[in-house]
Amino acid sequence: MRKECVLVVEDDEVIARGLVAALVATGLTAEWSASGREAIERVGQEHPDLVILDLGLPDVDGVDVCRAVRTRSPATRVMILTARREEIDVVVGLDAGADDYVVKPFRLAELLARVRALLRRDAEPPAPADGRVTVGDLTVDAGARRVFINGDEIDLRPKEFDLLALLVQQSGQVVTREKIMEKVWDEHWFGSTKTLDMHMSVLRKKIAASSASITTLRHVGYRFDP
Ligand code: CA
Repeated sequence: MRKECVLVVEDDEVIARGLVAALVATGLTAEWSASGREAIERVGQEHPDLVILDLGLPDVDGVDVCRAVRTRSPATRVMILTARREEIDVVVGLDAGADDYVVKPFRLAELLARVRALLRRDAEPPAPADGRVTVGDLTVDAGARRVFINGDEIDLRPKEFDLLALLVQQSGQVVTREKIMEKVWDEHWFGSTKTLDMHMSVLRKKIAASSASITTLRHVGYRFDP
């Protein structure tokens, strides 16, 4: 089977070398580019499965690199790596077509888990609507609409169930508020999402016994972390 290929675009040599070594150690092919311009060219030729992209590059802005990757190699996933904490960067990153982002300084184990989640997207399509999905100690049975933590059933109302099922199906990935409104409430999102916040807060309490958690990405969406 072909090894999945990751291109690390990062001008900090220490971080880049550490990342490449860690990715190779998990069985992936990993290469490094220190320049945005070179990265754009290589992506067009090599079509890697994933680009890990530092936003602060010396020659081309990372956001422009991200847009160029989207155009030149639409199937390539993009994970943005940034030291900029401002949420605007998150929004800009996702608007530019990034699939996920990690803020520096990052924990290597977390980054690798997110890399696996992104690459899995192609390999394992989401479970069928009537399937049973287990992530960590949490099991969602979509057919029976039942949820278990370590085998103990928890009681969820219909929208809470839909919300959890959607997040679990895309475990480890960002699900935007717009997408949640569309999928769970069946409407396009134009204004207040107070209903979503309320349901999310109740859902968090109900799954508190699980080792999983739901991370809020302010103004962007949510991510289910097993
Ligand atoms: Ca940098």
